[in-house]
Amino acid sequence: MNATPTPPTQQEFCIAYPLYEEFTFTEGQDEKGWEVFFSQEPIDTYCPECASNSIFRQHVTGDIPRYLDAWVGYKRLSLVLKCSRNVDHRLFFLFKVSERTVQKIGQYPSLADLNTYDVRQYSAVLPLEDFKEFTKAIGLAAHGVGVGSFVYLRRIFENLVDAAYQTAKGDEGWDDEAYGKGRMAERILLLAGHLPEFLVENRSMYKILSQGIHELTEKECLAAFPVVKMGIELVLDEKLAAAAKQQKLEQAKKAIHGLVSKASTGH
Ligand SMILES: [Zn+2]
Repeated sequence: MNATPTPPTQQEFCIAYPLYEEFTFTEGQDEKGWEVFFSQEPIDTYCPECASNSIFRQHVTGDIPRYLDAWVGYKRLSLVLKCSRNVDHRLFFLFKVSERTVQKIGQYPSLADLNTYDVRQYSAVLPLEDFKEFTKAIGLAAHGVGVGSFVYLRRIFENLVDAAYQTAKGDEGWDDEAYGKGRMAERILLLAGHLPEFLVENRSMYKILSQGIHELTEKECLAAFPVVKMGIELVLDEKLAAAAKQQKLEQAKKAIHGLVSKASTGH
């Protein structure tokens, strides 16, 4: 057991904490509990209705209790966070308090909606099914489902590799037998020219994913989740950059072609 776990802030409890996960504040942490329920400090998070990040503040009706243990007891407490751009944009949270043990038992919008905004850009470089599974993985992890989220991440990873294989096997001198026999790390090496550098250098990532599904506990998967997610994002970042470069090249080609044909007809 850890000595005293650090209590979540209002933002952490609302935005990052899975539903139903309990946190028990110690008596010395009454002020931290008070802050979760009554703080009006600004929270910078995604606003689904603005479709961008915004600053939220808790909207409190009536008096704010001054006693630091005002939240302790047996009750339900709710929080409404209002978007500073538009007061009609609101986030709702419902908490169950049993003595000093607090549990988030409801919220709107969903955790998944609040946690997937930063990956939306990747829909441009992922097939629709993979993109859906990527957001599903994030949603599951946000709800405390570690192993399940790894299943989706591993599929996305395998699909990235397979897409590269589909182009690579047309290459001259391609060794399909070696590829067929190879383990994932060896396959990735064979595909080096067709996969983002980051993935080739960190080909052991797949091992973590597989190990996660077979050997790691929910907690271990959840702890590894941000790292693996970041690895996949780096691969997708490279794909986004390559797509942007390709688009620019084509624009430039067209523009140059336009100049050349103008020059040849003009004189
Ligand atoms: Zn808003």
